[in-house]
Amino acid sequence: MKIGFIGLGIMGSRMASNLLKAHYELVVYNRSKSKAIDLIEKGASFTNSVEELAAQSDIVFTMLSTPDVVREIAELMLPQLKAASWWVDCSTVNPSFSREMNQLSKKHNIRFVDAPVAGSKGPAEAGELLFLAGGKEEELEDLAPFFNAMGKKTLYLNEVGNGANVKMLINLLLAQSMTAFSEAMNLGKGMGMDESLLLNILTATPVVAPFLSAIKPRLEQGIFDVNFPLKWIHKDIMLALDTASEVGVSMPSLDQTESLYKMALGKGLGDEDFSAIYKSV
Ligand code: NAP
Repeated sequence: MKIGFIGLGIMGSRMASNLLKAHYELVVYNRSKSKAIDLIEKGASFTNSVEELAAQSDIVFTMLSTPDVVREIAELMLPQLKAASWWVDCSTVNPSFSREMNQLSKKHNIRFVDAPVAGSKGPAEAGELLFLAGGKEEELEDLAPFFNAMGKKTLYLNEVGNGANVKMLINLLLAQSMTAFSEAMNLGKGMGMDESLLLNILTATPVVAPFLSAIKPRLEQGIFDVNFPLKWIHKDIMLALDTASEVGVSMPSLDQTESLYKMALGKGLGDEDFSAIYKSV
């Protein structure tokens, strides 16, 4: 069985590397070939086109930036895949887009599942991601070994789109926890308190999201090298807002949060870690 992997950015390169470690035969494609070099050295084969990759793969994983990019790749890939092959989209996209990709896949007789991941660069590298799979466990049993090679747990969420649903919620909480914490810290410092002391006190309280304890040393030292690009959390906020409007739910605080990340993009922080909002709000 040959596995195809498309999209070798921060996440995809590490996920693909774990498939190689698990001894799967891997064929990879990335728009910029330079990001595939390490994988090629470890035994993956590289194709110069999406179509070529699709023609030789039994299962394709995609880990791409935005819905528009996923659609572009899907249109090249789907006509070339063998009937009844799997396409597993791990990219963070909106749920209605995943359902659209499911319909498009069906037209080509391809089995589709949305399987976005929770966890950033570190968990991707360690093979400790959480997969949010939009299908039933018994329907996705062919995919479980691959999820296990790249992740520590898979949640089976019954139907296509539910993986993306949960991922939207996780990322809007991530985005808002980060800005709420940054703002509280600003007020604390404005009131004359010491930053390190405040970081220690607040991250030890239950009102602060656990991920903030994990990134405390980075905040303390002003290290914002990228794990999760700020431009992609802004993209995810926009996707969550689009989704909210599709289902008729108002999100007033997410609207405000979006403007903060947009401002950070304007300051040129898009390619830094999303936590760089700490120095921007
Ligand atoms: P990334 O490093 O920016 O990688 C993006 C990937 O998309 C690269 O392979 C890039 O190719 C490809 N791409 C972008 N535009 C393209 C185009 N027009 N045509 C073809 N390929 C294109 O981002 P990442 O952090 O790995 O994130 C990938 C996805 O996972 C995103 O949806 C993100 O929201 C999600 N995610 C990220 C994290 C995280 O912590 N980083 C965690 C969970 C989920 P090039 O290399 O040629 O640019």
